[in-house]
Amino acid sequence: MENYICRTCGVEYTESDSPPLNCPICDDPRQYVGWEGQRWTTMAELRVEGYSNDIREEEPGLTGIGISPSFTIGQRALLVQTPGGNVLYDCVSLLDDAAIEAVKALGGIQAICFSHPHFYDSMVTWSHAFDNAPIYIPEADRDYVMRPDPAIRYWGGEPTELVPGVTLIQCGGHFEGSAVLHWAQGAEGKGALFVGDSITVVPDRRYVSFMRSYPNLIPLPESEIKKIVDAVEPYDFDRIYGGWWGRNVMSGGKESVLRSAERYISQIKD
Ligand SMILES: [Zn+2]
Ligand SMILES: [Zn+2]
Repeated sequence: MENYICRTCGVEYTESDSPPLNCPICDDPRQYVGWEGQRWTTMAELRVEGYSNDIREEEPGLTGIGISPSFTIGQRALLVQTPGGNVLYDCVSLLDDAAIEAVKALGGIQAICFSHPHFYDSMVTWSHAFDNAPIYIPEADRDYVMRPDPAIRYWGGEPTELVPGVTLIQCGGHFEGSAVLHWAQGAEGKGALFVGDSITVVPDRRYVSFMRSYPNLIPLPESEIKKIVDAVEPYDFDRIYGGWWGRNVMSGGKESVLRSAERYISQIKD
């Protein structure tokens, strides 16, 4: 029995004797099946192929965790460390021994949450390695859980403070349950927002964008953009950490969201 991992989206599946027939996450119109057809791997195989976790400090109290060399779309997860506990936002497909040690040295993981299902990856393996840390999955996206587990807590979508000063906020858009994480003490106390691709930091790092599908370039309507802006409006944040290394708005983050939403809406309106 193996927990197979999809080679295109990186999501880990419930144990099975042989690889699943298809990946519902990649079959969804927001994603795509790899050009060589549906392919699978396992965590053991990834280690043999030379993949390892890539761990970097982003700022004091915030650690990025990715995979090197880049696997699937190369996202990095974020581990925020606070006196009241640590929260992992988003996940990656691999968890190696060095990462387990490094995360334990930082105080472990007290809660796991996500921007959206493309980054659920090996969430259950991560939870099991850290005392079955609770995994918060939005009710709205429960169909995208490919490895159900008792550690999963289905969450109604109301803003939820997972540990003091760290709040999970559902904003919708890319997925109905898409969410961002607000860290009040981040960015030297000015506040930081972790966004994955619920809100995407674009290469011009003064701006962000919003999409139903990124690989297939399906935009969002004005009403959905406004919902995202309204969801983050009550929170103060200066910095935005995107889903990839270096894709951050280092300051003026809140203004950047407002300015980017205005620009986007002006382009989709006739
Ligand atoms: Zn997949
Ligand atoms: Zn996505």
